[in-house]
Order: sequence, then C-alpha cells, then structure tokens
Amino acid sequence: MPANRKKVSKEKGVVEPQSDPPEETRYQIAPGLLERTGRSAVLMALYCRCPRCWAELASEPEMRASITFEEHRERIVECCSLRDDYIMPNMPLLEAVFRIILAKNEPVGLQEVHRSLMERWASRDLPRSVSEETLHRILRRDAFYGIQEIVPERPSLAANG
Ligand SMILES: [Zn+2]
Repeated sequence: MPANRKKVSKEKGVVEPQSDPPEETRYQIAPGLLERTGRSAVLMALYCRCPRCWAELASEPEMRASITFEEHRERIVECCSLRDDYIMPNMPLLEAVFRIILAKNEPVGLQEVHRSLMERWASRDLPRSVSEETLHRILRRDAFYGIQEIVPERPSLAANG
C-alpha cells in the first residue's frame, strides 16, 4: 500500500515561491457589528436555540434575560447546532451561514463554511448550489448578520527590494 506522501507545507516561515492556494479567508460573528446596526446579538443568538432549550428558558424568564451572547453560543455549540433542524433548507442563505459560524468557537474558514452549507442547507428536495467564490462575495457584503471577514495577515511580498 503506497504511503500517503502528501507534503504539508503549512509551517510558518516557509515561503513558497509559486502560486499558493487561495488564502484562507475566515469568518466570525462580530456582536459589535450587529449592535452598530441596531440589532441585538443576544436576541439573534437566542433565536438559534433549539426547542428543547426554549422550553428550559421559558421556565426561567429571569435567567433568560441575563444570558450573554457568548453563553448562548456555548449552548448552541454543545446542544442546538447538533440537531438536524438547526439549519433548514428553507432558510435564507445568510441565516444558514450565520448559524454555521455561530456554532463554532473560533473563526471558520470559507471552505468549511461552504462545505457545511452544502451538507446542511442544500437538500434532496431543494437542491441548491453556490460556489465558494459566490459565497465569498455574498459574505463580504453582509451587514445584516454581523458576519465579519478576517483577512489573513500576509508577509509583505511586494516589499522585497
Ligand atoms: Zn439547544
């Protein structure tokens, strides 16, 4: 059985002269961006909680009012996002992306967002397809969902000479 000799060239400091793969754009939900447009990050996260969580929250309205965005997100990571109905095919694309990013504790790469989207948002009954490039363009324009693009820092290639 031939060994998998695929070279990993991701070490820091290794500069590859030829074309590098498309730089990994990553995304995170920025509560500050949401608040700036008058939207509540806490409420948006609350609406992503699953029916079981809502049942718990309904029994403790006071507790519900004091839950932070990060606390919601922790529960979404551990509970709500694991359910099949967390992302439904009939959701708008950006809402699905919002939920995908929200369900991670760290910024999510464009490829991973795209893969999750195709796995969970597209369905047999409602087949949909969006290319990574299109997705990238759409996300760049988003202001509504507080999706923030993190552009990777690159060593200044042009500054050589
Ligand atoms: Zn839940």
